[in-house]
Amino acid sequence: MRIAIAGFSDETCTFCKDPTGVDRYESWALRGKAILDENRGIPTYINGYMKVLEAEGAEIVPITYASKGPGGFSSWLTPECFDKYSYEIRDGLKAAGKLDGVLLSLHGAMAAASAPKPEAEIVRRARQAVGPDVPIMVTLDLHANEDHELADAADAVFILKTYPHVDSEEIGVIAARCIVKTVKGKFKPTMACVRPGIVSASIYQASGYHPMKDVYDRCREWEKKPRVYCVSVAPGYAYADVVDIGMSVFVVTDNNQELAEKIAQDVSDLAWSLRESFAAPLPGAEEATRMAMELVSQGKGPVVIADGADRIGDSTHTLKELLRQGAKNWAIPCITDAKAATDLEKNHKVGDEVTLTIGGWYDQFSGTPAKISGTIEYMGKPTYRLVGPMRKGARVNESFVASIDLGLNRHVVVAQRMRGANDSAGLTAVGIDYTKLDIIILKDRVHHRAYWDSVAKVDIRTSVPGQGPADLTTLHYDNMPADTFPVGKKWRK
Ligand SMILES: [Zn+2]
Repeated sequence: MRIAIAGFSDETCTFCKDPTGVDRYESWALRGKAILDENRGIPTYINGYMKVLEAEGAEIVPITYASKGPGGFSSWLTPECFDKYSYEIRDGLKAAGKLDGVLLSLHGAMAAASAPKPEAEIVRRARQAVGPDVPIMVTLDLHANEDHELADAADAVFILKTYPHVDSEEIGVIAARCIVKTVKGKFKPTMACVRPGIVSASIYQASGYHPMKDVYDRCREWEKKPRVYCVSVAPGYAYADVVDIGMSVFVVTDNNQELAEKIAQDVSDLAWSLRESFAAPLPGAEEATRMAMELVSQGKGPVVIADGADRIGDSTHTLKELLRQGAKNWAIPCITDAKAATDLEKNHKVGDEVTLTIGGWYDQFSGTPAKISGTIEYMGKPTYRLVGPMRKGARVNESFVASIDLGLNRHVVVAQRMRGANDSAGLTAVGIDYTKLDIIILKDRVHHRAYWDSVAKVDIRTSVPGQGPADLTTLHYDNMPADTFPVGKKWRK
């Protein structure tokens, strides 16, 4: 049995300014055996594919895996970029000789200027190479915006059920098992896709809590029934202004189309009944900072402030509140400011006292630049491996960063490009002792909880301005279907 593996992935924030070109991909694109080497032992979709296929004694044919390098979000993929990797996958499949199946690791939230539904188009292009009879199965992130076009193009679609995403490998295993059984003639995939018509901000989509927990519990109930192979729900990605934005339900059954459709409708109906729960008022930067300080003073720290709207890393709203309200013992692992970072790199060394103006440069959501004074405690390009449950062991190579100690155990990391600290490695790598912090400010929505929930006693979700805000009414959509709840034209007051 010969199974090809390929991937082309992006979560495109069309509310960011800079288009996504080949330059954001090419240095990180993997080809041939490197795809397997880079994923082996890391809990990714592709490691899941490999585990099953190797145990089966199948021949794995790795083609191309294109995903964007680090450095934050960017806007629409250029036609050149989309064509380069999607045709490279097609041509690689064509050149691979006779194949029995294709596993594609896609994301689902790609927005491409030249392809309204990019994932369906990637599958159609792969199909050009292998023809109608070779099964093509797809794994997706749950931040996927998809509709029937993907269901029509692919033989089966499997989507994560966890946010923070800790089941990527498991979904890879489920997809690979399905393709093996299909190739052996022991399974006939039948699939339905239903869209309830809901769009929601990522910060409301955590899988362990209401409302998504209710939805995934229902999926798992259905999966216990005979001939039901996998019931998936993607709550969707609100920051890609695409025609198929919003939630979708995909159901894969064994040769029973009617059952797939019935289940997809049932899960969609459940999600629709919960629609009001996919938004709730959240505190802004001022209130969140006050809440955090109060909790700390009551001995209820450490506290994480999830400052999730900022997709560039330059926003200063929360930093300014921490300074203004006199908070102590905190760290912000990222204020993106290439100019300030370059100046530090060229003109300073560790131990220097500096006064800087940082952040607040990208757009109307960023806030104004913030002035800070302190001592440089770290400078360099950190490399480390992730230590949290998400992608544990994966290597991170960062651009230049400088950590500034503002006194009173307050730390700000000035970075060339957006960086994260979804586990402690992003802090430890720049010399910040996270065990001594009361407040950790993360430019993230939900992923950090996979690690930080075990450290912090409270996670404060916020509604601050940004390119990926909790409050979707602050964004202007051109392509969203009018009947999408709650911000499509039909629902706007
Ligand atoms: Zn995701």
